[in-house]
Amino acid sequence: MTSDSQRYEELKELLNTYSYEYHVQDNPSVSDAIYDGLMRELKALEEADASIITDDSPTQRVGNKLLQGFEKIQHSSRMISLNDVFSRENVEAWIKRTDKLAPGRTHEFYASLKMDGLACALIYQDGKLSQAITRGDGFTGENVTGNVRTIKSVPLSLRTDGQHEQFLNGRTEIRGEILMFKTDFEHLNKQRESEGLPMFANPRNLAAGTIRQLDPRLVAARPLQFRAYDLIREDADIQTFSQATEIIRNLGVVPITPAEVFVTLNDVMKFVDHWEAERHVLPFNTDGLVVKLNNRKLYAELGVVGKNPRGAVAYKYPAEEATTVVKDIVISIGRTGAATPVAVFDPVVVAGTTVQHASLHNADEIERKDIRRGDTVVVFKAGDIIPQVDRVLVELREPGAKRYNIEAELKNQFPDMEFVRPKGEAVYRVKGATGPLLLKRALQHYASKGAQDIDTLGEKNVAALVNAGLVKDLADIYTLSKDQVTALDRFADLSATNLVNGIQAVKNPALARFVYGLGIRHVGIQTAIDLSSHFKRLDNLGSASLDELRSVNGVGDVVAESILIWFDDEYNQKLLAKFRRLGVWPQEVKSTGGPLSGKSFAVTGSLETMGRDIAAEKIRAQGGTFQSSVGKDTDYLIVGANVGASKLAKAAKLGTKQLTEQEFIKIIDN
Ligand code: NAD
Repeated sequence: MTSDSQRYEELKELLNTYSYEYHVQDNPSVSDAIYDGLMRELKALEEADASIITDDSPTQRVGNKLLQGFEKIQHSSRMISLNDVFSRENVEAWIKRTDKLAPGRTHEFYASLKMDGLACALIYQDGKLSQAITRGDGFTGENVTGNVRTIKSVPLSLRTDGQHEQFLNGRTEIRGEILMFKTDFEHLNKQRESEGLPMFANPRNLAAGTIRQLDPRLVAARPLQFRAYDLIREDADIQTFSQATEIIRNLGVVPITPAEVFVTLNDVMKFVDHWEAERHVLPFNTDGLVVKLNNRKLYAELGVVGKNPRGAVAYKYPAEEATTVVKDIVISIGRTGAATPVAVFDPVVVAGTTVQHASLHNADEIERKDIRRGDTVVVFKAGDIIPQVDRVLVELREPGAKRYNIEAELKNQFPDMEFVRPKGEAVYRVKGATGPLLLKRALQHYASKGAQDIDTLGEKNVAALVNAGLVKDLADIYTLSKDQVTALDRFADLSATNLVNGIQAVKNPALARFVYGLGIRHVGIQTAIDLSSHFKRLDNLGSASLDELRSVNGVGDVVAESILIWFDDEYNQKLLAKFRRLGVWPQEVKSTGGPLSGKSFAVTGSLETMGRDIAAEKIRAQGGTFQSSVGKDTDYLIVGANVGASKLAKAAKLGTKQLTEQEFIKIIDN
């Protein structure tokens, strides 16, 4: 495994490369979502251990090196970057933080659309444009005055309606964004295509590349825009950002819009949500909104951490793609016996929902994309619904990561099954398995003793029902009528009645039995019991996250992944919905309020007077929980004969109280 410090160095190096491509070459090789995803990971590592932060970390600086060929000019005050937030909770937390730093100060928020361009400072001396400087590294930028003078929305002289005379004398700085409208970008790209020239990646990078051309004639031929977001004037008392916007407008410069002042978080979020839905109608690209404290004095007082001001955040809209790490690749066997590899991830938000796994489809797909365990991958949502792995970021691959060998994995994960790959197909299938064969197995399991315990539904009856086409999935058995069954060769009146009644008798089984009966891989009886005592209702289990599942005593990574994948499968979802429709649903686990309610027990070693199952039944009958192994939340460990020292030591370390069998019996019999 890569250590954190190794990962930190690798991330830093890769992000610096991306940043160079983006800021200096204006030619990014990855999307902003990928850059942002890796940046978040880097920040998390730095937050966990601040001593690792070095000066060359991309979290410590704005932009990148400056291009040769332009005069370098120092900014009057640092041009900053913004902290990203992604949810209402993040915005709320930001507001709370600022409240804490400046208690009792009422807030007003100035929210404006975030334009995706490049920042530029316009300096007006006595009302005349004297310099235009790119943001550069935040402290020093490039003098691009000649080029900026070609932008029609940048006035060469400020104007005033008489109200703001003072801004026409001395130094006035207006900061804003240079960008290109979407239609202009498309038009230019079409032109390039017809001339057989390479196309531009996106409007932002085309705008940045254009403004840093050494030949202003070329710049003039490309339609750029300027929109302002700040006004700096030392001797003026500008109280709020909204007021600054008004002055900017009066001076003849176009401010960034839409922008509005809000007082409550609710109203800010309404604005955020509105533009999330409507942003595609805007003439420019936006990746979110900027929310600032409207009070400029307070904003300035709060200062800057790293390269970000405390008084503002950039709300980023959900990205269509994201980066995450493949923790495991497990194989799931479908109803037809097809083996599908599935990648399990660290949870990541893609297009607004959390994604924890994605089908890798088949052997060819894994081979082609060369996805390995531990890889950092780019995930996107196909058609906005189904998560898919787009590609691997090989630069971040762990040294020694092995290619995924599906045949070896099949042998390893399913030692008791044989697989074949039919000629010309990319899919491995269980040998000899057809849909009906697997259905028969699943039904037998569902009806078996530990599950629904329907003794009239043995192997032969199952076969008869499936062969006759009366049962096509597990839920279908509940639709059988006596007449349908009697019509089959094997059944007489009485046996048909018994079968139908036997099935109907278990429409509301215990949760653990039902879960076990579903045949989820790796979920045996004990795991089903553990899950049922933890989750209490099937819906809770079905919507549990990987971490919640893992937190259940006795459930490890493999089991948790298998459960997650089972419940996310569309077929299984439909099956559960059908059960529900037919009135077949497991009972909710109610705490019985018995004497052992709230107490959990585990057993180690063999008991003399009873088997483990009996001990478990007795505990449950009195409202307690039986666990398959001792964990942090186990209250009592019943110690039988022949127990290894290591188990006892573990229990002692966890602080679990130990009981002899006799002591346990005393508790039960009380
Ligand atoms: P940021 O997200 O920190 O935003 C700050 C900038 O937003 C300001 O400097 C300003 O120019 C601009 N802005 C736009 N509208 C504004 C408004 N209404 N009010 C105030 N400011 C406004 O951006 P950043 O520091 O320029 O750079 C980070 C961005 O660059 C990220 O989105 C990142 O994805 C992207 N990036 C991408 C790559 C890549 O390889 N794809 C590499 C490096 C950086």
